Amino acid sequence: MIIILKQTAKQEDIAALRGALEGSGLSIHDSKGTETHILGLIGDTSCVDVNALLANDAVEDVKRVSEGYKKANRKFHPEDTVVNIGGHKIGGGHFAVIAGPCSVESEEQIISVARDVKESGAGLLRGGAFKPRTSPYAFQGMRAEGLELLRKAREATGMPIVTEIMNTEHIPMFSDVDVIQVGARNMQNFELLKELGKLKNPILLKRGLSATIEEWLMSAEYIMSEGNENVILCERGIRTFETSMRNTLDISAVPMLKAKTHLPVVVDPSHAAGLSWMVEPLAMAAIAAGADGLMIEVHNDPAHAKSDGAQSLTPAAFDALMKKAVPALSFFGKTLN
Ligand code: PEP
Ligand code: MN
Repeated sequence: MIIILKQTAKQEDIAALRGALEGSGLSIHDSKGTETHILGLIGDTSCVDVNALLANDAVEDVKRVSEGYKKANRKFHPEDTVVNIGGHKIGGGHFAVIAGPCSVESEEQIISVARDVKESGAGLLRGGAFKPRTSPYAFQGMRAEGLELLRKAREATGMPIVTEIMNTEHIPMFSDVDVIQVGARNMQNFELLKELGKLKNPILLKRGLSATIEEWLMSAEYIMSEGNENVILCERGIRTFETSMRNTLDISAVPMLKAKTHLPVVVDPSHAAGLSWMVEPLAMAAIAAGADGLMIEVHNDPAHAKSDGAQSLTPAAFDALMKKAVPALSFFGKTLN
């Protein structure tokens, strides 16, 4: 349930209302924007008397919310969340591009790709150190050493780093990671989500391979309910009956998410398509659909990449994409940072 407070509501009336609600066992999510002040009630609201609330001088309106996600719900928090990653903002009109290789492979590779993508306008560097691979015989990532190389690339370029975590035991190793990525395969690893919710690091939550938008938002809620509200959603394609692409980019998820949640939405056209030539048109579609950012795989030598070479752009192709993206962003009133 949400309570919309009057613009003219007095502080003492709000405090008395909050006290009464908390006294009946409810928790309150307080959201104060420039135009609206909303109290989101968390807990069993079945015994709350809506008419009594409407009679309260401080209350403008009361709405029952049926969605299970409260903290991620735009009804509770009408204004866009802006996540700030070392000065790179994402959400609320700020657009961020995260680019880099699927996997960190060597110091030279990660630093040269980082320099190239930065030069083309990417704000954040991606690179997998711990890789979730379908086959146990495939390259599993450089693991702790890969994290070390990402740190070196951050030092060399000043770019914040985005990298995937696969289990709770690795959390201490990720303490200085600027954005911790939860991959599609772990979207419903609830124990991992709860532990990440206790951190301050922003979390990039990828959509599960066959997850509905509702399930995805409930996973975001797991992180947020533990206190970490810096969640960025990443649409990366879903499983459908279509086999010509690796996945099907659910472009309609972007406007749907923007309506349902205040969290920033990033699109990863690389994993959606699985084909490098399709990355640019899908990236442009994501911008047009209202995304707040892009995550794109870029490799210095895609033909010899240790993972996902077929979908990786060369630095030159990434540069060409960015040259198209920048005017499109300004057309849609977004600022690249
Ligand atoms: C990745 O970003 O490298 C990755 C493994 O993505 P996903 O979890 O979307 O498959
Ligand atoms: Mn990949």
